[in-house]
Amino acid sequence: MKVARLYSFNDIRIEESQVPEPGPGDALVRTRACGICSGDVMPWYIEKKAPLVLGHEPSGEIIAAGSEVRSFKKGDRVFTHHHAPCFSCKYCRRGDHVQCATWRSSRIIPGGVSEYILVPAVNLENDTFVLPESLSFEDGTLIEPTACAVKGLRRAKIIQGDTVLIIGLGVMGMINILLAREYGAGRIIGADMVNYRLDKALEFGADNVIDVAAGDLREELLRITEGDMAELVIVGPNSAESMRMGLSCVRPGGQTLFFTPAKPGEKLILDPNYLYFNDINIITSYSCGPDDTREACKLIGKGVVSAGKLVTHRFPIEETGEAFRLTAKAENSLKSLIIF
Ligand SMILES: [Zn+2]
Ligand SMILES: [Zn+2]
Repeated sequence: MKVARLYSFNDIRIEESQVPEPGPGDALVRTRACGICSGDVMPWYIEKKAPLVLGHEPSGEIIAAGSEVRSFKKGDRVFTHHHAPCFSCKYCRRGDHVQCATWRSSRIIPGGVSEYILVPAVNLENDTFVLPESLSFEDGTLIEPTACAVKGLRRAKIIQGDTVLIIGLGVMGMINILLAREYGAGRIIGADMVNYRLDKALEFGADNVIDVAAGDLREELLRITEGDMAELVIVGPNSAESMRMGLSCVRPGGQTLFFTPAKPGEKLILDPNYLYFNDINIITSYSCGPDDTREACKLIGKGVVSAGKLVTHRFPIEETGEAFRLTAKAENSLKSLIIF
C-alpha cells in the first residue's frame, strides 16, 4: 500500500508499505479521504515526530474486523480518531480525555495518509463510529478539526449575544466562526492578513473583518465596537505575540482562548494586575476527545460545518507534498484533502 511519510518539513515521500494485519480486537480500514491539518504544518511540532506517516483526519470503510470485534462490521463507513482515551483513569473521570495516558499513547497505524489504516482495539471501541448516511467521506474528515473547535468553545463558554473576535482565518478560524454563531454569539469579527480569507469569513457569517496587514488590530476593533472590544477572543496563530495581541482585545469580564500552542520555550509576558482587576480569563484548549467528536458529527449532520463549505483543494496521495505546502502557505486555500 502507498503511504505519505514526512522526513522533514520539505521532504515528504510516497512509499510502499506492508498492509497492517489486524489483531482480534482491531479493524482494518480502507482510507477514502484524509485532511491535512493546519497543526501539522508547524515545523517544530511535526519534525519532532519525524519520520512519520502524515494525517490524523481520515475517514474510510472497514474492510476487515478481528474475531472479537462486535460493534463494527465489514462495509461500515467510519470516522476514526487517531487517539482514544481509556474512560477509567482520573483524567477520563473528569472528562479530561486528552490528558489520559492511553489517549496520548494510542494511535492509528501507520497514519491517515495511507491507503489502509489499522485501527487498534482501544481506538475502535472508544472513539470510532459509523458515519450517518447523510455524511460523505469528505464530511467525515472534518469531524476531528470540528471537534477541536467544539472543545475550545466548550471550555470558553459563549454567553448569548457575546461579541467574539477570531484572530486567524484559516480553516480552524472558519469553523470557529460557524460554531460561534451556532452557540449564540452576537457579533462575530474575524481578523487575518489574507484578502481571500477575509472575504470567506464574511461569506461564512462574520459581521466584520479586520485586515491586520492594513492597520492595528486593537485600534480597528475599538473603532468597530465603539470601544467595547470582545467578550471572547479566539487566538489561532501559534505565537506568543498573537496571544499578547489577543489579550489586549478582551473586554473586562471576558476571556481569551489560546487555540494553538506557541513554540516550545517561547514566553508570554503578562500584566497580572491588569488581568486581575479586569477579570480577564485565559483558556487553553488542546485537541479533542470522544464527547467532542460526537458533538462535531451532529453539527456536520445539521450542515453547520460541511466539506462543501470548507474543502477548497483535493489531491491524490502522490501529491501529498503539494497539499502540505499549500496548507503551510496559508493563503488562498482552506481545507486540503487527500482523496483515495
Ligand atoms: Zn487536526
Ligand atoms: Zn483515561
